[in-house]
Amino acid sequence: MQTGISKERVPGACLIAALAVLLGVALSAPAQVIPSAQVLGRVVQEAHDQFKDLRDGATADYIPELAKVPSELFGVAIVTARGDVFAAGDVDYPFTIQSVSKPFTAALVMQQHGGAEIILDKIGVEPTGQRFNSILATQVIAQVSVNPLVNSGAIAAVSLVEAASAQERFDTILEYYGRLAAAPLSVIEDVYQSEAATNQRNRAHAYILFASDRIYSEPMEAVDVYTRQCSIGVTAKQLAVMGATLANNGVNPVTGMRVLDTRYVPKVLAIMLMAGFYDESGLWAYTAGLPAKTGVGGGIVAVVPGKMAIVGFSPRVNAAGNSVRAMKAIEYIADQLGLNMFGSGR
Ligand code: GLU
Repeated sequence: MQTGISKERVPGACLIAALAVLLGVALSAPAQVIPSAQVLGRVVQEAHDQFKDLRDGATADYIPELAKVPSELFGVAIVTARGDVFAAGDVDYPFTIQSVSKPFTAALVMQQHGGAEIILDKIGVEPTGQRFNSILATQVIAQVSVNPLVNSGAIAAVSLVEAASAQERFDTILEYYGRLAAAPLSVIEDVYQSEAATNQRNRAHAYILFASDRIYSEPMEAVDVYTRQCSIGVTAKQLAVMGATLANNGVNPVTGMRVLDTRYVPKVLAIMLMAGFYDESGLWAYTAGLPAKTGVGGGIVAVVPGKMAIVGFSPRVNAAGNSVRAMKAIEYIADQLGLNMFGSGR
């Protein structure tokens, strides 16, 4: 039966191949169809309107200053791989990037060290299935307990950024994020001070890593640079440009500048899919089917390779630390546009 089926398909396939060659279309890389401006504008507005009255979740308060961020804020933004921007709601409000920073520092480490293996060899890429700051996970066997998107692995990633001093390490990260966002960025100082005064748990992570030779700079220095990194302010629109740079194979679609080598993009996205939502990563893959990263500041960026980044921002987070309204908004857009990477189901 198999043979019969493939024989029937040959003439059609030849015709398509011939047409593709005539049209100059590369068969190995099908053209990405980005929905029209009208459709993108509509779904962004609908996603905002539909979930703006949702009150589930609460602003994170384990970093005291975060509890002061107005919980009503809600913004939704799409930036396409061509650099077009669609936005609704509070998309120009700077919030702390928090853990949404983590994949971008992993990208910087790959870029600086000229290879993706460094993440595999020195940190790990397995989802922990535990909370973002699980000490238990960090203590389990090296290479299967940590990845760059949970706190301990992210602190290890920071320690791998090449620099002569802690200040230079942070400046390198800040400058890199600025190139990803197509905008100069800065630290939201009150949140940094607040987290620096209360981050004993992250210090514990760093010392556990140190005890097993899995941190690569002075441990407390790495925690401080990590805390500053998490306190960098971004707007939903800027975060969407950062995500769109991944969607556009490492070239920032707004500036036209290459920020990350194409070969590292699938590595970053793979880690995002497996661990971007911490202990809800499986649920997210099941519902939205897109690589994404969340942060306790209320931001989420989802990447649709070749097409766009979708960002939701709203400070009320659930028990796993993921923004409730941002998740709903991104899920809605992914569903409306059939963006699930495993198939639209239609
Ligand atoms: N700076 C936060 C921490 O280390 C980030 C956590 C998050 O956004 O999930 O706890």
